[in-house]
Amino acid sequence: MQTSNRNDLLLKRSLAAVWHPCTQMKQHETLPLIPVARAQGCWLYDFEGARYLDAVSSWWVNLFGHGNPRINAALIDQLAQLEHAMLAGFTHEPVVALSERLSQLAGGGLGHCFYASDGAAATEIALKMSFHYWRNTGRPQKTQFVSLANSYHGETLGALAVSDVRLFKDTYAPLLRASVQVPSPDWRLAQAGESPRDFAVRCAQALERHLEQHHAETAALIVEPLVQGAAGMAMYDAEYLRRARAICDRYSVHLIADEIMTGFGRTGSFFAFQQAAITPDLLCLSKGITGGYLPLSAVLATDTIYQAFYDDAVTRGFLHSHSYTGNALACRAALATLDIFGQDKVIEANKTKSAQISAAARALARHPRVTNFRNSGMIWAFEVATDDAGFARSFYRQALARELLLRPIGNTVYFMPPYVIADDEIDLLIHRTLEIIEQT
Ligand SMILES: *Cc1c(COP(=O)(O)O)cnc(C)c1O
Repeated sequence: MQTSNRNDLLLKRSLAAVWHPCTQMKQHETLPLIPVARAQGCWLYDFEGARYLDAVSSWWVNLFGHGNPRINAALIDQLAQLEHAMLAGFTHEPVVALSERLSQLAGGGLGHCFYASDGAAATEIALKMSFHYWRNTGRPQKTQFVSLANSYHGETLGALAVSDVRLFKDTYAPLLRASVQVPSPDWRLAQAGESPRDFAVRCAQALERHLEQHHAETAALIVEPLVQGAAGMAMYDAEYLRRARAICDRYSVHLIADEIMTGFGRTGSFFAFQQAAITPDLLCLSKGITGGYLPLSAVLATDTIYQAFYDDAVTRGFLHSHSYTGNALACRAALATLDIFGQDKVIEANKTKSAQISAAARALARHPRVTNFRNSGMIWAFEVATDDAGFARSFYRQALARELLLRPIGNTVYFMPPYVIADDEIDLLIHRTLEIIEQT
């Protein structure tokens, strides 16, 4: 069949020419590589019409479905005006409008937006800004960073240095600058009988003990607010963020909120830190920012930080250079994404959708092999009891055979669907996931 040949041909060419991310390429001798010919809504299609429900939003980036007509139209309109121009010395409407709207959404305390193209770069920028702030304000000895155990902030060398996922970090350890990890408030790690909130308080006390001793050399604490994604959707009580904010203030340490995954409504509020009623000093955004269309990231900074760089001396300025900073097409996709949030009252609508998905997943939550079933906004996760070391891969494969794109992290299965997932797609996702659990 000719169509079948198109699938096979693309796979062969891909394996020969493309080095795929987060992949031991040799595994593709037995693990299928999936060709994507086109995508619409929550579905990815190959050349033969086989389809896969994108239940992980294409690595956590897609919010309003593939081929979204409103984002498409905005991009076509933008193409007719300006695709890109350098942002040093020049400016344009999409980058200005996006900066205004992001800082407004963040509550007004974060009025200065710096742009890059991916999450790891946003982490690098936030770390550099924090260090440079302290240097500009006469405290150059503040050079250390603190993060949570099991944190993930990206995989360039600086971002990896503050991450704590062994699989990604161990090999490159000799290249990395040391950082400190304090206990994660992940409630799965609480003692029996200890509430998530009590555990969060206990972890905050450990943070305080560390900063009490080391604040003089510590520039910033970087956290993933409410949900540590790559750790396996570890969730924690907002009380930790409230206390971390107060402790950072007490010891003159910046609080960097890495909302690269949690931002844009993923945990129920527009930004996760809003559930703790705090404002970070630096806010990292990416992933959902363009609705999953184009690479873009942003770091939002407070006026206090910004002012410490504002000077006659060039070297006191933030000199980070990135050629595609503030790309007009990416900013326009982000503006179209924000328009949808307003037009469709997405944060409100997601409350209903989230409750509906949780209700539909009740049988899954109660399944004898399922533990720690948890939910935050539009994220669901649970552990599956198994003694199969290859659980993640075999589950992934069985999901594909049932038209589902699910990528467990260890024995943690999670759903992070586009917000536009429809009723029949929710049913299909839950029923087929149950089927897989029954059969593995
Ligand atoms: C994905 C992610 C990053 C890294 O973003 P990339 O665009 O993949 O570099 C950083 N932090 C968090 C919390 C993430 O989920």
